[in-house]
Amino acid sequence: MRKLLKIRHWVQLTFFIISSFLFYLFISNTLLIIHKFCPYSLICFGTISLKQGFYLYPLSFLIFAILTALVAWFGRFFCGFICFLGTYQEYLYKLIHRETRHFIKIDHKKEIVFGSLKYIVFLATIILSFMGLSRIFMGFCPIVAIGWIKSIGLASIIILAIITIAGALIERFWCRFLCPYAALMNIISYLGKILRIQAFYIQITKSSCLNCGLCNKACPMNIDLTKDPIIKNPNCIKCMRCIEECPTIDAINWR
Ligand code: SF4
Ligand code: SF4
Ligand code: SF4
Repeated sequence: MRKLLKIRHWVQLTFFIISSFLFYLFISNTLLIIHKFCPYSLICFGTISLKQGFYLYPLSFLIFAILTALVAWFGRFFCGFICFLGTYQEYLYKLIHRETRHFIKIDHKKEIVFGSLKYIVFLATIILSFMGLSRIFMGFCPIVAIGWIKSIGLASIIILAIITIAGALIERFWCRFLCPYAALMNIISYLGKILRIQAFYIQITKSSCLNCGLCNKACPMNIDLTKDPIIKNPNCIKCMRCIEECPTIDAINWR
């Protein structure tokens, strides 16, 4: 298991470096259209593509299709292993807080309420897309903000400031409460569960568990691990921090 944890850290770092290089290429105008690489551009540009009769950015569609299949099967591993923004928030939080604990504790009921905001953002991006107003969301999209930082607008500055300041106080603030792609992945994940495709869950073996609560405290997505022995919460990003923090070897593992 320790090996798997190390692999995650290296995979995360590798994708962070690759994404940073891609951002550098966009900032230096070597690459021009950032949406081509974003899986969420399917939503932002979906209706434009429908109107034109062909998909505008085939590469982003391919990335989206691969990720969708993997999310249905494996859950939100993309967030725990690949996403630049997720890793940025994780590194930022680690840099400021040495302990893997919640600096600001949000109780699990409030977490569900605040967490539903991302579905509203998701719905808003779909409505805007259908109205041909995707540009409004793009003004708030953090990926666009970083890629086009040289001509950054006020909305982008605000969103990057929120992600950084709130993310320094509440781990993965954007991921937990506002990311529309997280909402979409949760829906795909849910479908994977219904269709019985989803195969990887974190599982707690109650007979080996010390009930110390360390896994709960370590979870960056603030998931209540004491509720069910099998963690089927779609917000689980498969980061394995709960396993990393557990003082026993076999109390918490992959199912
Ligand atoms: S929730 Fe959104 S921003 Fe966070 S890691 Fe997942 S895709 Fe990236
Ligand atoms: S339950 Fe475990 S693997 Fe899932 S997000 Fe929380 S710490 Fe990470
Ligand atoms: S950290 Fe391990 S021993 Fe402690 S409550 Fe979680 S699963 Fe049980």
